[in-house]
Amino acid sequence: MDQLENVDGIDPASTVIVKMREQGISSLPRNYELVYQFLNTSNAALIREFSALGSRPTQSQLDEVGKKYLPHHHGASTVAQTRERISDEMQGVIKLVKQDQSALRKYSNLLGETSSRMSDGEASSSEALRGLLKVLSSATGDTMEKGGAVIHQMIERTKEMAQLKAELEEYKRLATIDPITRLSNRRAFDERLSAIYDGQQSGMHHALIVADIDHFKTFNDTYGHQVGDRVLSVAAAIMKSALDKDTFIARTGGEEFAVILHGISLEQAIGTAERIRLAIEATPLKNHHDGLDCGSITMSFGLCMATDATGPEDVYRKADAALYESKGSGRNQLKIHIPKTSRWPFFKR
Ligand code: GH3
Ligand code: MG
Ligand code: MG
Repeated sequence: MDQLENVDGIDPASTVIVKMREQGISSLPRNYELVYQFLNTSNAALIREFSALGSRPTQSQLDEVGKKYLPHHHGASTVAQTRERISDEMQGVIKLVKQDQSALRKYSNLLGETSSRMSDGEASSSEALRGLLKVLSSATGDTMEKGGAVIHQMIERTKEMAQLKAELEEYKRLATIDPITRLSNRRAFDERLSAIYDGQQSGMHHALIVADIDHFKTFNDTYGHQVGDRVLSVAAAIMKSALDKDTFIARTGGEEFAVILHGISLEQAIGTAERIRLAIEATPLKNHHDGLDCGSITMSFGLCMATDATGPEDVYRKADAALYESKGSGRNQLKIHIPKTSRWPFFKR
């Protein structure tokens, strides 16, 4: 075995470990002590005897040399035990440094504690091992600091990511909201309507109600577009208040709205549309600030049950056709799409 020079930039602890790995020496503390001595001594006899052991020396060969040249080779049992524990962890030191802060802290404490106990004279041990432990302890401490900085950076990045995610969610939410009425917009409506023909919802009864403000062009012409905008949001609020809290309602176009009702019968859907119609008709549009009295508006409605259509486009087309019929029949009313095969003669035209 050659005596190694400590290479600049490589700490003594690492040099000892490298040497031990090279020579296949097991990582017992007393072996660290011996190798450390060998690498740093000027004692020619020790260098000669240690070198004569060659590669892969047995433990008893190492102990023979150790006993001869290191008077405290088998130190006090408590410290020896502690050192045994350290040696078990020594093999995984690099892994530990990279992996686990808490394990590192434990490891560093253990090293520091052992080192100070030895300097307190509790146990006899060589200067060499004490130096070795100090080096390892401070090297581990350094790495912990670096590891701490990395963790801090990771926490900061995680915070930034969470913030970005929240902003993204907000953008996504805004992308489905109509700015004038604060109702869902056409995009959200299309998604909801498609969903009732997908998967689990497809077996249930759903209804689509479409609604359109009557003669709204005239209203705008009479009171101005700005007042028209305010009326759109008032109409939205009236419609919402006539519905259950969770019922989906959207502004699908200029002065057009749509309501999707889940798990509902035709009679219940008719009742809901009528409730909205009466509420709109009954609400006076008077501005309390400037006293402007716009009378009231009315709306026309079309209704189609999801089961009477083949898909989202079809149900919308049929509900819209029913709405068109309401307009043609004098407005301010509800018309229902009646399937040709209807079992209800009552609805037949
Ligand atoms: P109908 O009873 O047949 O529905 O008559 P209408 O006048 O309501 O229908 P038409 O389709 O002829 O006109 C729709 C009007 O709705 C035209 C436009 O002035 C008004 N409108 C559409 N979007 C908005 C909007 O965002 N704000 C305002 N103030 N008015 C709008
Ligand atoms: Mg209209
Ligand atoms: Mg319209």
